[in-house]
Amino acid sequence: MLDIWFPQDCVGCGQPPSLICESCRKRQILRPRTVTRTGLPVGLAVTDYAGFSQQLVHAFKLTGSHRLAQELGRQMASHLQNAMRNNGTDASPAPTATGVILVPAPSRKAANRNRGYQPATLLAKEVARFLRAAGTPARVQACLELHASVLDQSQLTAAQREQNLLGKVRCNPADLQVPTGWKVVLLDDIVTTGATLRGMTEALVSEGCQPETFLTFAETL
Ligand SMILES: [Zn+2]
Repeated sequence: MLDIWFPQDCVGCGQPPSLICESCRKRQILRPRTVTRTGLPVGLAVTDYAGFSQQLVHAFKLTGSHRLAQELGRQMASHLQNAMRNNGTDASPAPTATGVILVPAPSRKAANRNRGYQPATLLAKEVARFLRAAGTPARVQACLELHASVLDQSQLTAAQREQNLLGKVRCNPADLQVPTGWKVVLLDDIVTTGATLRGMTEALVSEGCQPETFLTFAETL
């Protein structure tokens, strides 16, 4: 959002003229992997939450920049497509789909109001765009929302995060329509304890929808 009004200093080194300079791009080390978290199907992350990747996510969440959403979304779509291609290998989730429904992680309404955008939905739209461009039908269905009592997760312990989200993710069934044969993929920028993704799964399962996998940009350990 508003990319053209902000100075295009690199999010990694702070130097102009571009948002992602060549030397920072070169030092970004991607480590695509599968991710296992209790109570969730095998998921995917593009890399660690560290170094330039961490700076990218941080800058994206702070600004909602379309250019940064594209950068993250491209890498996420590419990882999901590789995983789908590797269908049948032990380590990979296998959404062997005619199409993919991306369900973005909800964030707190107060945070959405303050920012003026919802980060996971922006990312999901970019991922869907890249998937469609590569020939995989994909749609975003932002059908989940958080109860008003949910607190900001960032300062909470793992146990507190779980408690914070327990029963607090709600699915609006009118916004969830999965065509026959399509697979549902949960999407968030970062996976930490998996509490948000478990809350999302619980809400979808209560509507009779079982997610196939989850797709994130970065994994924190
Ligand atoms: Zn740079």
